[in-house]
Amino acid sequence: MAKTYAIAIDGPAGAGKSTIAKRLAKELGYYYVDTGAIYRTVAYFLDLLGVSPKDADGVERYIDELTVQITYDEEGKQHMIMNGMDVTGEIRTQDISQKASLVSAHAVVREVLLDMQRDVAKAHNVIMDGRDIGTVVLPKADVKIFLTATPEVRARRRTDELIAKGQQAEYEVVLKEIIQRDYQDTHREIAPLKMARDSIKLDTSELDIEGVVAAMQKIIGEKIPL
Ligand code: C5P
Repeated sequence: MAKTYAIAIDGPAGAGKSTIAKRLAKELGYYYVDTGAIYRTVAYFLDLLGVSPKDADGVERYIDELTVQITYDEEGKQHMIMNGMDVTGEIRTQDISQKASLVSAHAVVREVLLDMQRDVAKAHNVIMDGRDIGTVVLPKADVKIFLTATPEVRARRRTDELIAKGQQAEYEVVLKEIIQRDYQDTHREIAPLKMARDSIKLDTSELDIEGVVAAMQKIIGEKIPL
């Protein structure tokens, strides 16, 4: 099989991972894999069944009844298919963000999803974003970038994003949720959010999208023949 290239982007919520990764994937002709969406789909599924994301027994009992598929439309947009149903829009709420963070702490959930993520990277050139891509999912990725920004900047971006989607969002509430999610994601036992040793850190607090894209293009260009 021909060599495939992998770019791993990790970092906390609202650091700009998906916006930037989508842009770069389009430019490079790579697949963009948003792994957070997979955890969100699991959280949404369990929520529909009324299973609390903290209920380890319930999560373990029902996870086998879920089939998750990732598909791409003609524009290259990733869609999440939950037992045959497209739930791409439904998983983008603050409630599901929190539940995904709790659900993702269970070993059984992470195990089930690991191969699925690795399989995409085996078959295609990918830009994959998440929390543990450079550390666990693709430890041999050709480029690893850790995108971050202050919680205040991230909360502002997330609030604007939710409002642009027609959802209600208050900055103070979003900030509190982001801080809580950061805490949960960095303190869980399995695959916590942390920078891989060979990752390059990029703080996007003071940068606009173009600035981040330019910085990333430079980092990627030094590691991958473009
Ligand atoms: O990136 P996004 O905000 O959509 O992720 C939702 C949640 O899924 C995160 O807060 C995190 O707990 C979990 N997640 C994870 N590992 C990943 C991607 C997301 O644990 N690779």
